[in-house]
Amino acid sequence: MVSVSGVRGIVGEALTGEVAEQFGRAFATMLPAGATIALGRDSRPSGPMIRDAVIVGLNAGGVNVIDLGIVSTPGVALMIKHLSAGGGIVITASHNPAPYNGIKFMTPEGLNLPAEQAERLKEIWQSGKFPTAETPGTITQNDQTHNLHVKAVCDIVDAEAIAGRKFKVVLDSINGAGCEGTALLLNKLGCELVHINGEPTGEFAHEPEPIAANLTGLCEAVRQHGADIGFAQDPDADRLVIVDETGKFIGEEYTLALASAFVLKQRKGPLATNLSTSRMMDDIAASAGVKLHRTPVGEANVAAVMVREGCVFGGEGGGGVIDPRMVLVRDSFVGIALMLNFLDETGNAVSELVAELPRYHMLKDRFPCPQGAAAEILSAVREAFASRPGAKVNDEDGLRVDLPAGWMHIRASNTEPIMRIVAEADDAESAGKIAEEVRKIAEEVLG
Ligand code: MG
Repeated sequence: MVSVSGVRGIVGEALTGEVAEQFGRAFATMLPAGATIALGRDSRPSGPMIRDAVIVGLNAGGVNVIDLGIVSTPGVALMIKHLSAGGGIVITASHNPAPYNGIKFMTPEGLNLPAEQAERLKEIWQSGKFPTAETPGTITQNDQTHNLHVKAVCDIVDAEAIAGRKFKVVLDSINGAGCEGTALLLNKLGCELVHINGEPTGEFAHEPEPIAANLTGLCEAVRQHGADIGFAQDPDADRLVIVDETGKFIGEEYTLALASAFVLKQRKGPLATNLSTSRMMDDIAASAGVKLHRTPVGEANVAAVMVREGCVFGGEGGGGVIDPRMVLVRDSFVGIALMLNFLDETGNAVSELVAELPRYHMLKDRFPCPQGAAAEILSAVREAFASRPGAKVNDEDGLRVDLPAGWMHIRASNTEPIMRIVAEADDAESAGKIAEEVRKIAEEVLG
């Protein structure tokens, strides 16, 4: 499975050592002669095999590799900038289950590859034509990622004040790439840390997607230890979700919402987020008097708009915050530090900060959509929704229609014959009604 976010598949099936080597060679073909890249991986047991195969391909193509070891995705982005590297690679399947792995490619700016470059990489790979360099590349190690990442994050918050509060924090790192660096961060921020699933063994103790059903252990640990807050990361530690002081999972949309609310208290400026993210972001932007830019789904799209519009903050609703002072990818370390700073500065508990935000109900669903049928469905849904009083239409990525009492976003998947729908309203019933209506229209179109 090749997409803008890189290559991903089940190891030994779609993603073999051979495929990994080919992608190393294809990426080398796109880089200038003698280029050096930074490479990191998450903790999956297949990581070393994929790493070695990718490096063989890169070295054969004349590219030098700085191996960062087991580090987070934002850690790699940070090191690309720090080392002035010509690009980067992260070996991770993010929130996908353990049998999967993947290869993500990054630009010299530490961004995910823009769509046109990702497309070129795919074409080179498909062509199977990889020139061999006269001088093979070299491999060196660098173990400074965690230190530099933690220092950079501490520099954007009031680390001393946070440390003075001695917060009790439960962290679930799912035995992923976040384990070591995040423990170091919480230590520097003076927290009393209860670390569950805190060894980077890649043995996932629960399904890695950070959603309510997978975080019962974290919620229980927060209650048991009487902690101030609970955090969960995904295996490559770019996404972060929050559990409040009562042990309640507050929902993945709140990470970006709370962090944005805090950042806007310090620095006024535009925000950016994707079209599937909660209306809370519109409310937060409006109450601060700043503009919110909506972008197509995908963190590279959010990052591009953040750069273009000079945004002070942004990210994606699934627990991904992007702080342009750091790196232009989602960073759970930043989310943790901002959240603790927010708690310290307001003196409020997590549940009190949540209560200050409007409460919406979001519903995510999918329905089958044969190849080629998406355009017709989109146009039928548009016709049904766009003429309603107060409707605002955005068709930059599928179709989002905002109505006074709720909104919906539908888009075709790039990888499966399905359409995804997100609906949000003041209560669960209304959100369900919107989704049901869209589904009915699609069924009519498909006959
Ligand atoms: Mg991830």
